[in-house]
Amino acid sequence: MKKLLTLLVLLFFTIVLVQAQSYDVKKADSLLNANGEVYFSFHVYDRAELDALTNIISLDNVRGDEVFAYANRKEFGKFSKLGYVVTILTPPGSMLADKDLMKPEGALNSKGPATWNFYPSYQQYLDTMAYYASTYPSLCKIDTIGTSKTGRLLLAAKISRNVNVDEAKPQFLYTSSIHGDEVTGYVEMLHLIEYLLTNYGTDPKATRLVDSVQIFINPLANPDGTYHGGNNTVNGATRTNANNVDLNRNYPDPAAGPHPDGNAWQPETVAFMNFASTFGFNMSANFHGGSEVFNYPWDTWVRRCADVNWWEFVGREFADTIHQYGPTGYFTDEQNGVTDGYDWYRVTGGRQDYMNYWHSCREVTIELTTVKIMPASLLPSYWNYEYRSFLNYIEQSLYGIHGVVTDTATGLPLYAKLTVLNHDADSSIIYSRMPTGFYDRVIDQGTWSLMFSCPGYHTKTINNVTVTRRHGIHLDVQLKAINYGTGELNQGELTIYPVPASKDIHIVLPEAESAKWKLDVLNILGVSMYSGEIVNTGQLVCNLDVSSYPAGMYFIRLSGKSGIYRKQVVIRH
Ligand SMILES: [Zn+2]
Repeated sequence: MKKLLTLLVLLFFTIVLVQAQSYDVKKADSLLNANGEVYFSFHVYDRAELDALTNIISLDNVRGDEVFAYANRKEFGKFSKLGYVVTILTPPGSMLADKDLMKPEGALNSKGPATWNFYPSYQQYLDTMAYYASTYPSLCKIDTIGTSKTGRLLLAAKISRNVNVDEAKPQFLYTSSIHGDEVTGYVEMLHLIEYLLTNYGTDPKATRLVDSVQIFINPLANPDGTYHGGNNTVNGATRTNANNVDLNRNYPDPAAGPHPDGNAWQPETVAFMNFASTFGFNMSANFHGGSEVFNYPWDTWVRRCADVNWWEFVGREFADTIHQYGPTGYFTDEQNGVTDGYDWYRVTGGRQDYMNYWHSCREVTIELTTVKIMPASLLPSYWNYEYRSFLNYIEQSLYGIHGVVTDTATGLPLYAKLTVLNHDADSSIIYSRMPTGFYDRVIDQGTWSLMFSCPGYHTKTINNVTVTRRHGIHLDVQLKAINYGTGELNQGELTIYPVPASKDIHIVLPEAESAKWKLDVLNILGVSMYSGEIVNTGQLVCNLDVSSYPAGMYFIRLSGKSGIYRKQVVIRH
């Protein structure tokens, strides 16, 4: 009797449990075991629900009231308690067989990849990147941005005439597949590297871009996700990295704070943040799949960004050019292929907003294909629909207003801030880039007032700068140092090495006979980092330990009997 009662109680609870589960528990569980993530869809009654859901799961697409999303085990556990009726979907990374994707043999020959109708293995990818650098050493070099969680390489090709020199030109970045199972852009970016290198000197547009822009291309931002199924196939690719974290929800967010997803910054995130700090990208795009749309900032805020008109113009150019060369209906999601990010659905922790807000970089999210992993045989056709738009978007970095900011007296380049008066908002100001002092303010047509400022210098405002679309205005700007007093008579440049510095900086004292100097170090906001006296004991060089200073730009000022000497230094760790 007791046994029967226990059985009945158990049966009762089993029924209750089964009824409470509104999804295929077994299927979800086996996918979470195999991939660390699960892909699913559900319906919302009100789109306002998405604002809360975006902090719990990784929203992937929203079509009407139907939502597509990913979650790892922890996220799915939280979400499944909310009572939505959920359909567990086949992972997009496992829809096709190897034979439809890969080309294991003969894919690379002495001229690099012979065709573009396959997804490379991890080794083929490394070999292809190395091939470009070794075959075009004056136009292409490969930087290692960092390594993934499991030690795979995060690579970026730099393509530019005089590739080994940082010149006074825009710095432009393309990067793809931060979601490991969205790989059309991965192959397209390798193809773009080849296109720029092989057409340099013959095709006028490719030549102009390589001559005038420093182009960086990171084809694969999440190699652990893409090669989740092993180094020889993209079959089994996952959205997340090896820690099952969505890297495009893992960045500091202007509205939601430093860790909007509740996870530590992943190795891939840290590597990319360092990469973005080391260079000063003016424009970039991050390629995804799952939809077909040009998604501009903000993702996190409902309000429009300051440069919304410019984004609409550039986005329309991107989409309309694809419409001209692609099949009917392709790249027409949202507003015929262009959308404000928040209008589509809110994302927090995305890289786009991070780059726009903290790096003054105009970054857009571009979803290339609704199918995340297409049969490889279709890749050449999609390249043909898209590549003109890739080139046009790079070309936009040559338009707007650009030039070099220097010190009136010394002619030395300055790290200056450019504010477009009555226009800039939410961190849309930009900075000139050291060591060249080059700035690049892409902006829509109009007549603008520009204010240039730099600590220790008189601010300069230039009114009535008229910009027209698809034209660049070259505007060099000189700023005059603020006169600090009697010691100013003999101001000049200090000699400091190494540049950039990481541990010690060595300051060459201007005059051996001066007994005393006052040394000041200010950070970029003008806050004193160091102030002290140097007594010259016959040493011509004074050393300063800067290992505890945060990476960035600093101003060194040395005051003595003969005058004040200045220098800006960059500290990197
Ligand atoms: Zn994506």
